[in-house]
Amino acid sequence: MKAVTRFAPSPTGYIHIGNVRSAIYPYLIAKQSNGRFILRIEDTDQARFVAGATDLIKETLTWLGLDWDEGPDKGGEHGPYFQSQRRTIYHEWAKRLIDCGRAYADSTPSETIAKYREASNRAKQPFLYRNHRPANSPAWEIGMPLRFKAMPKDYDYHDEVFGDLHMGPETQDDIILIKADGLPTYNFAHIVDDATMGVTHVLRGQEYLPSMGNYLALYEALGLERPKFVHLPHILAPTGNKKLGKRDGAKSANDYRLDGILPEAMLNFLACLGWNDGSEQELYSKQDLIAKFDISRIQHAGARYDEQKLIWLNGQWIRRLFAEDAPALFARTAEFWPAEATDMDRRFQVFSIIYDRLKTLGDLKTMTSYFFVDPAINLDMIEQNKPLKKLSEAEICELLRRSIAKLQAIDNWTPAHLQDALNELLAETAQKPMTLFGLIRLSVSFAPFSPALPDTLNVLGKATTLARLNAVIAAYARD
Ligand code: GLU
Repeated sequence: MKAVTRFAPSPTGYIHIGNVRSAIYPYLIAKQSNGRFILRIEDTDQARFVAGATDLIKETLTWLGLDWDEGPDKGGEHGPYFQSQRRTIYHEWAKRLIDCGRAYADSTPSETIAKYREASNRAKQPFLYRNHRPANSPAWEIGMPLRFKAMPKDYDYHDEVFGDLHMGPETQDDIILIKADGLPTYNFAHIVDDATMGVTHVLRGQEYLPSMGNYLALYEALGLERPKFVHLPHILAPTGNKKLGKRDGAKSANDYRLDGILPEAMLNFLACLGWNDGSEQELYSKQDLIAKFDISRIQHAGARYDEQKLIWLNGQWIRRLFAEDAPALFARTAEFWPAEATDMDRRFQVFSIIYDRLKTLGDLKTMTSYFFVDPAINLDMIEQNKPLKKLSEAEICELLRRSIAKLQAIDNWTPAHLQDALNELLAETAQKPMTLFGLIRLSVSFAPFSPALPDTLNVLGKATTLARLNAVIAAYARD
């Protein structure tokens, strides 16, 4: 059976990273069976509409490689794919319910409804509108909400993650199907859309579980077959027991992209939030995920959002993509270099020695400028360095002079020859690597970190290396 799935975000601005997981699983399920993945924009709540939000959603999916088969910009047989453009479809389906006596127009003023609600609150009773259903209802027209006429009963159903579930009569009410403005509620629209678009699997957050009583009643009243239900457990904040929210440090997909997180890593990370294939594997490409994703292995417990895991995965993905095709990965780094990195050949050389230490591509900006311009000399950095603290100024300058002499003698400036020379120097000076190599590293970079020293000196070149070491001796002389 070819699966038809959908991602149905509401364009309300910020795309919560957890919402993006709700796009990945349906995508994988559709691709596994050569089915269809639909992007549907649920924009019926005009009050919460944010301009540009749909573009952001599309950009995020495109960035992650989750190309939709039907939806905005793509079209398809089941459009339109914006709910706001599907009014006539909802009205048609609503009329069917009116005709069979399962929907009614409601002219009850909102103040009256508020009073009913208050009374239930005072009596500590759950508020059910059906207890106040008006005896007569006018003919339905825009300007008046259309409500479902609940016929409460017991429903059993199966959720692919949460198992066999039951919804009792208390879960069903006279919910609004079409609002006074003529637009449908989510409750009604998604059922009509899923049915008319042929959706076979409904994947969404577990926050929709309590509403299942109403949805099951609507499927029945509309004579629709139920799709498969796959409710996804919450994503939890990094600490505590609450759901991941805006303020918990989860950025938007676009912010992660700007930080230099690779889409491969983000896809891998999100797919594995609450899912694994039971093996030790940690790195999953999109193709691996399509091959291995299995609804039955989605965990029931909420998955904790651990940004450190994302960053670790990103480092792993940088290494993997470099090994697969270094120039292709390098081509994706263009926006992440510091302004002084104008020499493209040098960029590639630097990338080739530093890639395996990067956590994000954004690290290039802060970690590489000394390869392109002389760093400002900062003697404090040498003096504050732990292994170097023990040495006097004179000893430091002496070590620098001996280093210069040794490196000066290298004719063939290659990492291997540099390594040999540095080892000899270590033996001759009887210093620890941390001390000697730390001093040379700091003197040529004034950075807290560099790639392996022979590689670093090799890329800097002989002239620059010697000039920088001499400049430090000169700075001590002036000091
Ligand atoms: N528009 C709903 C949301 O953004 C979608 C829920 C669903 O996938 O059915 O939460």
